[in-house]
Amino acid sequence: MIAKVKKLNTSQKTDVNISSAYTFSPRVTNVRIKVICGPMFSGKTKGLISAITAYQDKGKKVLVFKPKMDARYSENSIMSHDKVEIQATNVVQPKEILDLFHHADVVAIDEVQFFDPSIVKVCNIIADQGKSLILAGLDLDFQGNPFGCMPELMSMADEVVKLSSVCTFCSGKARFSHRISKDRGVVVLGEKDKYVPLCRSCYNELKDQ
Ligand SMILES: [Zn+2]
Repeated sequence: MIAKVKKLNTSQKTDVNISSAYTFSPRVTNVRIKVICGPMFSGKTKGLISAITAYQDKGKKVLVFKPKMDARYSENSIMSHDKVEIQATNVVQPKEILDLFHHADVVAIDEVQFFDPSIVKVCNIIADQGKSLILAGLDLDFQGNPFGCMPELMSMADEVVKLSSVCTFCSGKARFSHRISKDRGVVVLGEKDKYVPLCRSCYNELKDQ
Protein backbone atom coordinates (compact mmCIF):
# COMPACT_ATOMS: atom_id res chain seq x y z
CA MET A 1 0.00 0.00 0.00
CA ILE A 2 2.81 2.40 0.87
CA ALA A 3 4.53 1.56 -2.42
CA LYS A 4 1.35 2.36 -4.30
CA VAL A 5 1.05 5.80 -2.68
CA LYS A 6 4.68 6.56 -3.50
CA LYS A 7 4.10 5.58 -7.12
CA LEU A 8 1.08 7.90 -7.39
CA ASN A 9 3.10 10.80 -6.03
CA THR A 10 5.83 10.21 -8.61
CA SER A 11 3.24 10.12 -11.35
CA GLN A 12 1.67 13.40 -10.24
CA LYS A 13 5.06 15.05 -10.11
CA THR A 14 5.85 13.87 -13.67
CA ASP A 15 2.55 15.25 -14.98
CA VAL A 16 3.35 18.70 -13.58
CA ASN A 17 6.81 18.66 -15.16
CA ILE A 18 5.45 17.69 -18.57
CA SER A 19 2.73 20.33 -18.62
CA SER A 20 5.13 23.08 -17.54
CA ALA A 21 7.56 22.06 -20.31
CA TYR A 22 4.99 22.88 -23.04
CA THR A 23 4.97 26.62 -23.50
CA PHE A 24 3.54 27.19 -26.98
CA SER A 25 3.83 30.53 -28.66
CA PRO A 26 0.95 31.46 -31.02
CA ARG A 27 3.36 31.25 -33.97
CA VAL A 28 4.33 27.65 -33.21
CA THR A 29 0.74 26.48 -32.73
CA ASN A 30 -0.05 27.65 -36.28
CA VAL A 31 2.44 25.20 -37.78
CA ARG A 32 0.79 22.52 -39.90
CA ILE A 33 2.36 19.57 -41.68
CA LYS A 34 0.21 18.29 -44.53
CA VAL A 35 1.06 15.18 -46.57
CA ILE A 36 -0.64 14.62 -49.93
CA CYS A 37 -0.08 11.06 -51.12
CA GLY A 38 -1.42 8.49 -53.56
CA PRO A 39 -0.42 6.48 -56.63
CA MET A 40 0.81 7.91 -59.91
CA PHE A 41 -1.72 10.00 -61.86
CA SER A 42 -3.80 10.72 -58.73
CA GLY A 43 -3.32 14.50 -58.80
CA LYS A 44 -0.73 14.85 -56.02
CA THR A 45 1.13 17.71 -57.68
CA LYS A 46 -2.17 19.38 -58.54
CA GLY A 47 -3.13 19.12 -54.84
CA LEU A 48 0.25 20.49 -53.82
CA ILE A 49 -0.08 23.47 -56.18
CA SER A 50 -3.59 24.11 -54.89
CA ALA A 51 -2.34 24.10 -51.25
CA ILE A 52 0.57 26.40 -52.21
CA THR A 53 -1.82 28.83 -53.91
CA ALA A 54 -4.10 28.84 -50.86
CA TYR A 55 -1.18 29.93 -48.63
CA GLN A 56 -0.07 32.54 -51.20
CA ASP A 57 -3.58 33.96 -51.31
CA LYS A 58 -3.23 34.58 -47.54
CA GLY A 59 -0.01 36.52 -48.18
CA LYS A 60 2.34 33.71 -47.11
CA LYS A 61 5.68 33.22 -48.81
CA VAL A 62 5.99 29.62 -50.00
CA LEU A 63 9.29 28.06 -51.12
CA VAL A 64 8.95 24.93 -53.26
CA PHE A 65 11.57 22.17 -53.45
CA LYS A 66 11.92 18.91 -55.31
CA PRO A 67 14.62 16.25 -55.64
CA LYS A 68 17.07 16.65 -58.50
CA MET A 69 16.84 13.28 -60.25
CA ASP A 70 17.16 13.55 -64.02
CA ALA A 71 15.98 15.69 -66.93
CA ARG A 72 12.31 15.21 -66.09
CA TYR A 73 12.90 16.51 -62.58
CA SER A 74 15.63 19.10 -63.22
CA GLU A 75 13.27 21.76 -64.58
CA ASN A 76 13.04 24.69 -62.15
CA SER A 77 9.33 24.15 -61.69
CA ILE A 78 6.69 21.61 -60.76
CA MET A 79 3.83 20.95 -63.14
CA SER A 80 0.56 19.13 -62.67
CA HIS A 81 -0.76 16.83 -65.38
CA ASP A 82 -3.22 19.57 -66.34
CA LYS A 83 -0.21 21.86 -67.04
CA VAL A 84 -0.40 24.24 -64.07
CA GLU A 85 3.20 25.21 -63.34
CA ILE A 86 4.91 26.76 -60.31
CA GLN A 87 8.56 27.66 -59.70
CA ALA A 88 10.64 25.20 -57.63
CA THR A 89 14.23 24.68 -56.49
CA ASN A 90 16.02 21.39 -57.22
CA VAL A 91 18.03 19.92 -54.36
CA VAL A 92 20.08 16.73 -54.19
CA GLN A 93 20.38 16.41 -50.39
CA PRO A 94 17.60 17.29 -47.91
CA LYS A 95 20.08 19.36 -45.83
CA GLU A 96 20.32 21.85 -48.74
CA ILE A 97 16.76 22.92 -47.86
CA LEU A 98 18.02 24.04 -44.43
CA ASP A 99 20.24 26.66 -46.12
CA LEU A 100 17.31 28.10 -48.06
CA PHE A 101 14.07 27.92 -46.09
CA HIS A 102 14.52 30.76 -43.57
CA HIS A 103 12.80 33.46 -45.67
CA ALA A 104 9.72 31.29 -46.23
CA ASP A 105 6.54 31.05 -44.18
CA VAL A 106 5.76 27.68 -45.74
CA VAL A 107 7.93 24.95 -47.30
CA ALA A 108 6.44 22.75 -50.03
CA ILE A 109 8.17 19.62 -51.33
CA ASP A 110 7.11 17.56 -54.35
CA GLU A 111 8.15 13.93 -54.99
CA VAL A 112 9.29 13.81 -51.37
CA GLN A 113 9.50 9.98 -51.41
CA PHE A 114 12.71 10.18 -53.48
CA PHE A 115 14.71 11.91 -50.72
CA ASP A 116 16.95 9.92 -48.35
CA PRO A 117 15.74 9.32 -44.74
CA SER A 118 17.35 12.57 -43.50
CA ILE A 119 14.35 14.40 -45.01
CA VAL A 120 12.38 13.41 -41.87
CA LYS A 121 14.80 15.27 -39.58
CA VAL A 122 14.94 18.23 -41.97
CA CYS A 123 11.13 18.51 -41.96
CA ASN A 124 11.09 18.40 -38.15
CA ILE A 125 13.69 21.19 -37.95
CA ILE A 126 11.66 23.34 -40.38
CA ALA A 127 8.45 22.78 -38.36
CA ASP A 128 10.30 23.55 -35.11
CA GLN A 129 11.29 26.89 -36.65
CA GLY A 130 7.62 27.79 -36.98
CA LYS A 131 7.19 27.00 -40.69
CA SER A 132 4.36 24.91 -42.11
CA LEU A 133 5.07 22.13 -44.59
CA ILE A 134 3.16 20.67 -47.52
CA LEU A 135 4.64 17.36 -48.73
CA ALA A 136 3.52 15.42 -51.79
CA GLY A 137 4.68 11.93 -52.69
CA LEU A 138 3.94 8.33 -53.61
CA ASP A 139 2.88 6.40 -50.51
CA LEU A 140 3.50 2.98 -52.13
CA ASP A 141 6.27 1.83 -54.48
CA PHE A 142 5.62 -0.30 -57.60
CA GLN A 143 5.66 -3.45 -55.45
CA GLY A 144 2.94 -2.10 -53.16
CA ASN A 145 5.36 -1.46 -50.25
CA PRO A 146 5.51 1.81 -48.25
CA PHE A 147 7.83 4.16 -50.14
CA GLY A 148 10.99 5.25 -48.30
CA CYS A 149 10.41 8.07 -45.83
CA MET A 150 6.65 8.32 -46.46
CA PRO A 151 5.43 6.30 -43.44
CA GLU A 152 7.40 8.53 -41.03
CA LEU A 153 6.29 11.75 -42.73
CA MET A 154 2.67 10.60 -42.67
CA SER A 155 2.98 9.82 -38.93
CA MET A 156 4.37 13.30 -38.25
CA ALA A 157 1.70 15.06 -40.29
CA ASP A 158 -1.26 17.01 -38.87
CA GLU A 159 -3.20 16.13 -42.00
CA VAL A 160 -2.81 13.30 -44.52
CA VAL A 161 -4.71 13.46 -47.80
CA LYS A 162 -4.83 10.11 -49.59
CA LEU A 163 -5.70 10.47 -53.24
CA SER A 164 -6.67 7.72 -55.65
CA SER A 165 -6.49 7.39 -59.38
CA VAL A 166 -8.76 5.54 -61.82
CA CYS A 167 -7.91 1.87 -62.43
CA THR A 168 -6.76 1.41 -66.02
CA PHE A 169 -8.62 -1.89 -66.36
CA CYS A 170 -11.85 -1.69 -64.36
CA SER A 171 -12.21 2.08 -63.73
CA GLY A 172 -12.39 1.39 -59.98
CA LYS A 173 -10.45 3.44 -57.39
CA ALA A 174 -6.71 2.89 -57.96
CA ARG A 175 -4.27 2.93 -55.03
CA PHE A 176 -1.38 1.07 -56.73
CA SER A 177 1.20 2.18 -59.31
CA HIS A 178 1.85 -0.89 -61.46
CA ARG A 179 5.06 -0.84 -63.47
CA ILE A 180 4.58 -2.03 -67.02
CA SER A 181 8.29 -1.80 -67.96
CA LYS A 182 10.71 -4.62 -67.06
CA ASP A 183 12.98 -2.43 -64.84
CA ARG A 184 13.22 -3.89 -61.33
CA GLY A 185 14.76 -1.06 -59.25
CA VAL A 186 12.51 0.73 -56.74
CA VAL A 187 13.28 4.12 -58.31
CA VAL A 188 12.57 4.04 -62.04
CA LEU A 189 11.45 7.39 -63.38
CA GLY A 190 8.73 7.47 -65.95
CA GLU A 191 5.18 8.41 -66.78
CA LYS A 192 2.46 6.53 -68.62
CA ASP A 193 5.14 4.73 -70.64
CA LYS A 194 6.18 2.86 -67.48
CA TYR A 195 3.31 2.91 -64.99
CA VAL A 196 -0.45 2.38 -64.86
CA PRO A 197 -2.70 3.05 -61.85
CA LEU A 198 -4.57 -0.07 -60.68
CA CYS A 199 -7.08 -1.08 -58.00
CA ARG A 200 -6.00 -3.82 -55.56
CA SER A 201 -7.82 -6.54 -57.43
CA CYS A 202 -6.36 -5.73 -60.87
CA TYR A 203 -2.94 -5.07 -59.29
CA ASN A 204 -2.89 -8.53 -57.69
CA GLU A 205 -3.89 -10.15 -60.98
CA LEU A 206 -1.15 -8.40 -62.95
CA LYS A 207 1.80 -7.96 -60.59
CA ASP A 208 3.36 -11.42 -61.04
CA GLN A 209 2.89 -11.63 -64.81
ZN1 LIG B 1 -9.22 -2.54 -61.32
